Amino acid sequence: EEEIPADHPRYQDLLTRHRIETGIEKGITHLQGMHAEGRGSAFDYLLGEETIPSADGAERAAAAHLLLADQPVLSINGNVAALVPGEMVDLASAVDADLEVNLFNRTPERVKAIAEHLREHGADEVKGLTADARIPKLDHQRAKVDADGIYAADVVLVPLEDGDRAEALQEMDKTEIVIDLNPLSRSPQVAAVPIVDNIIRAVPNMTEHARDLADADEAELRSIVDEFDREQALEEAEARIRNGL
Ligand code: ATP
Ligand code: MG
Repeated sequence: EEEIPADHPRYQDLLTRHRIETGIEKGITHLQGMHAEGRGSAFDYLLGEETIPSADGAERAAAAHLLLADQPVLSINGNVAALVPGEMVDLASAVDADLEVNLFNRTPERVKAIAEHLREHGADEVKGLTADARIPKLDHQRAKVDADGIYAADVVLVPLEDGDRAEALQEMDKTEIVIDLNPLSRSPQVAAVPIVDNIIRAVPNMTEHARDLADADEAELRSIVDEFDREQALEEAEARIRNGL
């Protein structure tokens, strides 16, 4: 990361791409993760590479949902692990959530490497290695989750999630929070809280909101959740992207 000059106009984007490359080299990110990154980067460019006001509102609503949850779980895939490992550990501690490794291209080696990577970034317990439950209606590999993790969770944060699994989790009646730069992708379309923002900005901002709301009572958290309008958030993101074009 030292080789990228900080005054480069696309500094953040280059840094992000470099982290995915490093993730691939370390065996925590699948090669397909670079393709997902490229797609995200195009949408971020059109958004102006900033957290738009509707995304900030979604991040606050997401923090309130996580604080209200009985059993919140933050799902970690290869791109998430490469881009924001320490930030996900911080968010988990701010809202008292579990971290669970959950991969599209699942191999035992990659699950272990990601769990180890998260521990190097301060996580103590990492779920996803037991994989003793299945999400209904998904093929075998993609259905694998921990019985006491995502399977039992009431609120799940699934950043950069694939559309099929996002739909299947939705059908399990979980409150789903999705981070995805493409507001038209199926994952944000099915989420209770679609966050159209770069995960690099979204996660630290959710942690900041969670810390700000740490002393809020249940009624206040409920009102933040109730006032959030998912359709409006999706529309505002799409309008911003069209405007960017
Ligand atoms: P589907 O409709 O099945 O979800 P898709 O084309 O969206 O198909 P995905 O594998 O879900 O396929 O693509 C990855 C998604 O992650 C893309 O929508 C992309 O915009 C998003 N993405 C990539 N990098 C980031 C990032 N850094 N922050 C937020 N979102 C990102
Ligand atoms: Mg998608």
